Amino acid sequence: MKLYNTLTKRLDPFAPQHGRTVGIYVCGPTVYDHLHIGNVRPVLVFSALRRYFERFKGWRVLYVQNVTDIDDRLIKRSIETSQTVATIAETYTRAYFDLLEALGVDRPTASPLATDYVEEMVQFIAGLVEKGHAYERDGDVYFRVASVADYGALSGRRLADQEAGSRVRVSESKEDPLDFTLWKAARPGEPEWPSPWGPGRPGWHTECVVMSRAHLGEHLDIHAGGNDLMFPHHENEIAQATASSDAPFFRFWLHNGMLHFGGEEMHKSLGNFRYAYQILEAYDAETVEYFYLSRHYRKPLDFSEDGLRAAQAAVARVRRLIDDIEAELRQSDGEMGPAGQAFSQSLARFRERFVEALDDDFNTVDGVAVLQDLVSETNRFRAEAVGIDRLALRDAVELLRELGWPLGLFQPAGASSSSIEAGLLDLLVGLRRELRARKAFDLSDRVRDQLAELGVELKDTPQGTLWSRLAP
Ligand SMILES: [Zn+2]
Repeated sequence: MKLYNTLTKRLDPFAPQHGRTVGIYVCGPTVYDHLHIGNVRPVLVFSALRRYFERFKGWRVLYVQNVTDIDDRLIKRSIETSQTVATIAETYTRAYFDLLEALGVDRPTASPLATDYVEEMVQFIAGLVEKGHAYERDGDVYFRVASVADYGALSGRRLADQEAGSRVRVSESKEDPLDFTLWKAARPGEPEWPSPWGPGRPGWHTECVVMSRAHLGEHLDIHAGGNDLMFPHHENEIAQATASSDAPFFRFWLHNGMLHFGGEEMHKSLGNFRYAYQILEAYDAETVEYFYLSRHYRKPLDFSEDGLRAAQAAVARVRRLIDDIEAELRQSDGEMGPAGQAFSQSLARFRERFVEALDDDFNTVDGVAVLQDLVSETNRFRAEAVGIDRLALRDAVELLRELGWPLGLFQPAGASSSSIEAGLLDLLVGLRRELRARKAFDLSDRVRDQLAELGVELKDTPQGTLWSRLAP
């Protein structure tokens, strides 16, 4: 498998370096607000990559995503709302986990909170000071950028360019305008932790270095996040990590593209700003996954209602096909003829094409196209197959589910709210059967009609009543 590595600026072959375990660290949310539709993109993309590794490569994935629960933005929000920083952090950390659940995204294997690692961060910063890579000024500690070679290698920014650009800024007490904060002295009333430089709080760039090492150990395989984090955040992580020890830091750096609205950036002042939970009020999680993953993760994602509606229709078509095939074939069994067997065998090439696409820098655009081709081929066979050969359609459904798995698509009703939905529908279908047995046809018809209004179709077959979702 190949992945585009921002560090080397090329497609590099990827495999875990230690056994079958892959460590992935994705920069997590700063919990001062809900995630918006831009910062939910890395969440969706990199959890899909995780599921692909687990299911298609057989690798064990340690997936770490931190929670930044101390930061200037939290303090600002605290002042604005007169709530404590801890209350704000708690509120939005919970909202973040609720969002993961609503999206059907697995929780990370670890979600370390920055405030649980302050002691480790203080030790880490002290080590940098000792080695001459950092210095203290009035209770703040800065990283001495000039002390490391290769600064700017990840983002491709040359030191000279940045100096020219930043000369206009007033550089407080820093030696160099490029030097960044590792430790920030607390002002009265701000949350603080003890340190050799006086009470204060750690900087964001230090947090990710310390927590990724703490949770991944030697499995520093992939560090991921949005393009916007490449500089200065990731550049500063690398500078600290390489300055602190000779031990290697992450080998692969993956970055997803930003969200746009017809070429414009998302911004509150442009009126196009939306929170991630708001799209889930209008669309289901599967539609959202389909929409985000049918674009290449490295390219900008043009966000639009039309795009979401198209995704919704595409998902509904596949869902309908799966429901119909399962309803038709639920109870039949037998030996297929040559036509059925030929169709079943022909399915292997879809799996091959899918793996080929995702192995090529996780090209989910082509992966989704393979799924659509599989749907067309299944429809073609379904239209012409007769008798027991139709059993081969079950293999197509099974494959749709297998290939849909890493992308969060086409799974049977599972553990989440969808299983409650399925349970309630089964309950209603059972009650309607009872009503019909008692000849209360007015009530049984009402159940059917009202379910139809909700987008659920009931079909009475010799095997019993089956329900399926209607395409919108
Ligand atoms: Zn980070």
